[in-house]
Amino acid sequence: MSLVELSDPSQLFWLSGFVFVVVVAIQGVLSLVALFGRQRLQSRLAREQLQLLKNQVTQTAALYQTQIDMKRSIWSGLRKFRIVKKQSEARDVVSFHLKPEDGGALPGYYPGQFLTFQVWPHKGGKSVTRCYSLSSSPRETDHYRVTIKRIGAGVDGKPGLVSNYFIDSLNEGDTVDVRSPAGHFFLDESRPGPVVLIGGGVGITPVFSMLSVLATASVPRDTWFFHGVKNGDQHLWKESLTNLAAAREHIRLHVCYSQPNPDDREGIDYHHRGHVDIDLLKQLLPSNNFDFFICGPAAMMNSLVTNLLQWGVPEGRIHVETFNPASTRRAEGSSASKRKVRFLRSGKGGTWPDDGQTLLSIAESLKIPMDSGCQVGHCGACKTVLKQGEVTYQTEPSSPPEPGTVLACIALPKTDLEVDA
Ligand SMILES: Cc1cc2nc3c(=O)[nH]c(=O)nc-3n(C[C@H](O)[C@H](O)[C@H](O)COP(=O)(O)OP(=O)(O)OC[C@H]3O[C@@H](n4cnc5c(N)ncnc54)[C@H](O)[C@@H]3O)c2cc1C
Repeated sequence: MSLVELSDPSQLFWLSGFVFVVVVAIQGVLSLVALFGRQRLQSRLAREQLQLLKNQVTQTAALYQTQIDMKRSIWSGLRKFRIVKKQSEARDVVSFHLKPEDGGALPGYYPGQFLTFQVWPHKGGKSVTRCYSLSSSPRETDHYRVTIKRIGAGVDGKPGLVSNYFIDSLNEGDTVDVRSPAGHFFLDESRPGPVVLIGGGVGITPVFSMLSVLATASVPRDTWFFHGVKNGDQHLWKESLTNLAAAREHIRLHVCYSQPNPDDREGIDYHHRGHVDIDLLKQLLPSNNFDFFICGPAAMMNSLVTNLLQWGVPEGRIHVETFNPASTRRAEGSSASKRKVRFLRSGKGGTWPDDGQTLLSIAESLKIPMDSGCQVGHCGACKTVLKQGEVTYQTEPSSPPEPGTVLACIALPKTDLEVDA
């Protein structure tokens, strides 16, 4: 029947009724499809949210357990550790894997913290104290790892005492005396939010530990990792870094060579020629809204910190670790005010401007013998009796010294001082 034949009004009525029913039916089917779709979407979103919540709960529980384990098994004083593996990582950089000799539990640590070692490089001589950051992941619970760079002869012609001792004289099977993990430069895993990790040279060690945790976090955090070295000879953990970044969307890796070797290939072995500097960060990062963790040579750190502050990054979001504290000491306070410091036993003394010089460096400038170790207020080797006056601390001591004593390596004269040295 063609439309032309539909002259009977009743036929027209039935046809339009039929069309109406079909349209309503289609609409009904479409609504049902949309409803099911919405429901499917909603239940998928709910499943995803539940999974995220589960991940957060697992992560928080793991963190809480780590904190309990840390408190339970942290040791005081020195503990003997055996070197179970010695591994070359790059030219003049060697890793040492350590296990407690007593076979006891290995306390957890926060990624970024360090160990303090007391060693005797000269047989029968004095002990020497140095700190080395944990380059392992806190998730590896059966050993600690530290990674040490050989310090060559400086202007005084003397090569680094302890780094060379470790690399040349300590081997698998030897034991070392170690203080428990410590330090305020660490990644707080309970805080969400994007991070930028910057490791210059061997300064990669603490940030590599942070990266290993971020790579396995159940709630991914946007992570930008920068490693700055001279050339391919010094590129640390090249394969691990590349594989980590390739397997995880939330990790972006940028390696800079300042003086590439002729066979170092840009875009293959490294990403950028030059240093990790503020221009590169501004060029790559979508904003300055990150927590920055920086460890590297003094020049790199000083320039980055100054420029990040100028870029508007709040001071509280810039975290730094220095391996050679003396080289990064910044002038603080007003150099107009002066303090008298008298060393009673040696009968020496003088007046110093309030410019951030520590008691240890004042003593060194007067050639007054004073023991020192970690230079970050942890090992206690520089503990000195203060007879008169008050000090403030450059950084917070790991544990406050007994009343009447001060940690000279981080103590700044607050008033005139009389010191028993
Ligand atoms: C918290 C912390 C964590 C550390 N983590 C690591 C780590 O993971 N890996 C690592 O290799 N080192 C690390 N260090 C540095 C380490 O503690 C020693 O300072 C370093 O090994 C040099 O000691 P040394 O006895 O060989 O040299 P020294 O005999 O003390 O010094 C010899 C000469 O080298 C200079 N010098 C000392 N240290 C450095 C340095 N870092 N860079 C350049 N010149 C230097 C001195 O000014 C001196 O002129 C860390 C330091 C601190 C404070």
